Amino acid sequence: MMPSHIETSVMDQIIDRAVEQNPHSSGLIKAFGPIIARQRQLTSSIDLPPLDYSSVDKEKLRAGVSVISQISLFSPDDPLKEIALSLTEAVKEGMPKLTAELDRLSGLISTGKLRLADYFEAHPGNENKAIDGWENNLKISPSNASFLLSLIARVLLERRAREITEAMGEFAWEKGYCPICGEFPSIALIEEEGGKRFLHCSSCGQGWGFTRVVCPYCEKEASKEMDYFYVESKTQESAFVCDKCKKYLVTLYRAGRLHARDMDVSAISLVHLDMIMQDKGYEPMTACAWNVLS
Ligand SMILES: [Zn+2]
Ligand SMILES: [Zn+2]
Repeated sequence: MMPSHIETSVMDQIIDRAVEQNPHSSGLIKAFGPIIARQRQLTSSIDLPPLDYSSVDKEKLRAGVSVISQISLFSPDDPLKEIALSLTEAVKEGMPKLTAELDRLSGLISTGKLRLADYFEAHPGNENKAIDGWENNLKISPSNASFLLSLIARVLLERRAREITEAMGEFAWEKGYCPICGEFPSIALIEEEGGKRFLHCSSCGQGWGFTRVVCPYCEKEASKEMDYFYVESKTQESAFVCDKCKKYLVTLYRAGRLHARDMDVSAISLVHLDMIMQDKGYEPMTACAWNVLS
């Protein structure tokens, strides 16, 4: 398994560098590091049943209908148990305080008392019913269940996003939410060269280009320079803010491509901006495990 070894070591370097450059976020980066590393490894290596993407319609995409609104991206044959048990080990590594609860959760999953498919089969729409059922019948904390489910979904969706991009080639997409899974972005990246803005989805890992002068959340036109909030002395980091919908989007400026980057690690590294913006009364465009602060 050479490839995943290489990926693991690249991931370790990314995490080490993030800790070094963002000492204020080091606790959070170290907690999420092993989880993100395991997710990337699973995304590349796990065997998933094939899905048929031939009915995904490029015209619908152009009109803003995401892939997940067109076809189901979860299969009844997805290896949910295998992914879940691997991820709970990684969560324990990063967040040892959760060990007892996660061991209980793993036990229920491996004996089949907790059927993860109940959640994914109901997705999207009725998935919270499954979580309520686990809370009532198995005394599972809904926040831990949701956390684990979002981690599993990311592995499945990121792999599907890659397959879709490969199967479909280029397609037009002009929305501020994700073309694959329909979630709003967790972070944006602006390339120094050309100044283009790329949005990143933490639910499935997809990235896409989006105009800099429109709010990705409510589509209000924003003037180019007015709507960015900077922390003094940090010119590479900012938050796009929209005064219409009161949302913000953490934004990173990239001067070069010297180092490999993981956008989720970057988003976690910039959590001080989440604190500042939420303190000012703004909300993130999407809730992530690391940016729900109050
Ligand atoms: Zn997505
Ligand atoms: Zn807005």
